[in-house]
Amino acid sequence: MRPVEQAFQFCPSCGASVEQRVNPLSCACGFRYFFNPPSAVGGLLRDPEGNMLFIRRERDPGKGKLGMPGGFIDPGETGEDAVRRETQEEVGLEVSKLDYLTSHPNVYAYAGVVYQVIDFFYTAEVAHFDNIERNEEEVSEWIIARPESMNGDDFAFASNWFAVQTFVRRFVQS
Ligand SMILES: [Zn+2]
Repeated sequence: MRPVEQAFQFCPSCGASVEQRVNPLSCACGFRYFFNPPSAVGGLLRDPEGNMLFIRRERDPGKGKLGMPGGFIDPGETGEDAVRRETQEEVGLEVSKLDYLTSHPNVYAYAGVVYQVIDFFYTAEVAHFDNIERNEEEVSEWIIARPESMNGDDFAFASNWFAVQTFVRRFVQS
């Protein structure tokens, strides 16, 4: 595993070998590249009774551990667009009343490269969880539980647990 700035071997502008693999990448040609964090979203989906949807990850990173519907924001999307799209792709649900909740940095290791990601979390409502259609490539099972009953050790990413704790502090506890 190595940070993304150390994975670059050549200047994207002139093609010369990169001598110092740091952030920002600075080339003798004058080109500089800032490794700003990729943006991702997570959706805290709840029904009218206050239950929340969690998913068990079918793939690495974090295979077998818990998370929530979400993923990387595509170019041109808003965070809200990404939550709607990822929720549809992963569990086949339509959400309403999307509201921004919080953000938290995340470290995402994939194929030997480590990315410093920024995760944005949204709350959203679903009428019920009866019509979940699981994407078998991404979701091994879903869990419907009260957010205040969850355990941080079960989550793949500390950012997801931070979002659940933020939700509980704001909306569950008095
Ligand atoms: Zn260059």
